[in-house]
Amino acid sequence: MPRMAPLLSLEEAQQRILERVVALPPERVPLDAAAGRVLADPAAALVDLPPFDSSAMDGFALRAADTPGRLPVVARIAAGRPAPRGLEGGEAMAIATGGAVPGGADAVIPIEYVVDHGNEVEIGQAVEVGANVRPQGGDVRRGEPLVAAGTVLGAAQIGALAAAGVPDIISARRPRAAVLATGSELRPPGAELEPGEIYDANGVILATQLASAGAEVERLEPVADDEAAHRGALETGLRADVLVSSGGVSVGPHDLVRSVGAELGVEEVFWGVAVKPGKPLWFGVRDRTLVFGVPGNPVSALVCFELFVRPAVLALQGAGAPLPRFEPGTLARGIRRNPVRTELVRARSRVGDGAVELEPLGGQDSHMIARAAGADVLVLVPAGEGELDAGAAVSFLRLA
Ligand code: AMP
Ligand code: MG
Repeated sequence: MPRMAPLLSLEEAQQRILERVVALPPERVPLDAAAGRVLADPAAALVDLPPFDSSAMDGFALRAADTPGRLPVVARIAAGRPAPRGLEGGEAMAIATGGAVPGGADAVIPIEYVVDHGNEVEIGQAVEVGANVRPQGGDVRRGEPLVAAGTVLGAAQIGALAAAGVPDIISARRPRAAVLATGSELRPPGAELEPGEIYDANGVILATQLASAGAEVERLEPVADDEAAHRGALETGLRADVLVSSGGVSVGPHDLVRSVGAELGVEEVFWGVAVKPGKPLWFGVRDRTLVFGVPGNPVSALVCFELFVRPAVLALQGAGAPLPRFEPGTLARGIRRNPVRTELVRARSRVGDGAVELEPLGGQDSHMIARAAGADVLVLVPAGEGELDAGAAVSFLRLA
């Protein structure tokens, strides 16, 4: 019977994985397909932003020195339609929000603060130089950095790129990922269950997580606990950049993923982590393919993905900070610690008095995916003796 070497710590296992990741080759991606992609090179602004001095309000462009006063309105400026000439002393020009402030003007007074007589405007107060003018380049200057390399692009970053005139980006190509559920007991949801059978949850869990990490996902047909079936499916999955199998990595006689993987040339990097759930996690590589064998219990699969697989998928895309981002919170009730394994406890978060409070859910067994469905965070409980009391400071990871 196979035996695990001493279990790796969470951090050590993550390190061993990231060491084996080689970022995928870059490609050009148009901005409207860039959501969730990782920027490979730093992006710089192609224009000043705003590109010209523009009005922040609907109002009148003028010289501050001419206020208060009554000024002739010599032009009307709409957005996208600049004034035909500069503004002379003693003049006003009506201007719309986003309109180009004409040369010679140094302020805009909002329409609410004037009396508009049509071809004259009456200004009862002194206006400050620069008031309601958004200066050219005040957001960013042409050539200045806009978004850093390694950033995962969201709406704000893509918006900044568009506003600064950048039509496309360079990004590592999306990782191709294969998902393989193993287990003779597995049936697809919708089928009738025979005695001893269960529905395959891991296939869809892992496919969902992979897609959310930016991968293109291929789901392989689940395989029975049979060497030939494993061989065929694993060989297919090994063509991907990332192969994630579930089940069959424990110490039982039907656990075939490691032995068949080895036969197919997968180099084992480690087997076994001091993490609960997830102890029998297996990680290996063949050529450039990263191979994860996550344990079969659905909550183990879910948790192993967040701790170990997602960072690898992000690193393949060149993400600057691929590891999970834990945040500080406090426990809403006490929990017993595991003496030897770091535990990821499923919990519900709420915003409390100056802190995020974390309520561990009942039903922490790793087969309890229905209980886990009520969780929005994983609380990290370091290995140790005794209890963590209610109110204890802990760190937690948000689930997507
Ligand atoms: P294993 O890691 O193969 O020993 O599986 C551990 C437990 O997880 C067993 O109770 C399996 O029936 C269950 N299991 C394995 N694969 C899946 C799956 N794809 N969906 C739901 N449960 C699974
Ligand atoms: Mg199994």
